[in-house]
Amino acid sequence: MRVISSPRFAEHTPPPGHPERPERAEVFDAVAADWRRRGGEVSEPRAATRDELARVHTPAHLDQIAATAGCAVMLDPDTFTSPESHQIALLAAGAAIEAARHAAHTGEAALAMVRPPGHHASPDRAMGFCLYNNVAVAAAALRALGVARVAIVDIDVHHGNGTQAVFYRDPTVLYVSSHQFPYYPGTGAADETGIGAGVGFTLNVPMAAGATDRDYGRVYETVVLPALDRFRPDVLLVSAGFDAHELDPLGGMRLTTAGYAHLVSLLHGAATRLCGHRVAFITEGGYHLAALRECLDATVQAS
Ligand SMILES: [Zn+2]
Repeated sequence: MRVISSPRFAEHTPPPGHPERPERAEVFDAVAADWRRRGGEVSEPRAATRDELARVHTPAHLDQIAATAGCAVMLDPDTFTSPESHQIALLAAGAAIEAARHAAHTGEAALAMVRPPGHHASPDRAMGFCLYNNVAVAAAALRALGVARVAIVDIDVHHGNGTQAVFYRDPTVLYVSSHQFPYYPGTGAADETGIGAGVGFTLNVPMAAGATDRDYGRVYETVVLPALDRFRPDVLLVSAGFDAHELDPLGGMRLTTAGYAHLVSLLHGAATRLCGHRVAFITEGGYHLAALRECLDATVQAS
């Protein structure tokens, strides 16, 4: 497992009391330090370029976020920048690209531990703590490299409305999301399946609040993994949100650390079976620091 992260992810500082807080980056640092001690490789990300972001986002959106450099701005009621946020968000998207490329080129799994998260950011809008859509930018980078089919599995408790929007018409990128429903951001009903050529390449699995390890295991074994088998991705990307954990202050699910570890191992298994173990995990939510630490440790060690 190649780990990509940076202490700089603590430099994005939403207002005090915000759940997507800099302490989450200290968890990333602790996981990375532990991984290094075990002989694992950890690399620093580079910033994503404007061209890389423009595969997913509109010029107006890129200009709007770039204009926040040096400023503290409220982009929506949940989404804030601090003076460094633009630069740190570029690093987050760059880390996601590097993780995806590493997995694609080597067949070794990768984990990008990044903030701000990305899956609520749509082509033209920051939303839900997210400035740029890291996993979507990574998937688009793989497509630009000539990778024919990319699957994204989103295990965050929230629906990744932004990721869905980016690839809604695109049959080359399968988006599969399991999420609490109804819940923020309101999208992700089962009948949202794509448009035009993209029909059938968005798969939403809305789940009632209170879902357990057993419920999640059943959904992954009977719905998510068969969808991956049918699609036969060349690379698997995982929007690795850990806010479906039972301790999470935002989510209403009851996944334990062991339950999350099981999902991660199922996804590793699918990647081994389908695409030469080309799998990259890119962090999204996860707001209970101890649970986040445990789930990230489990993800790193699952390789
Ligand atoms: Zn979330």
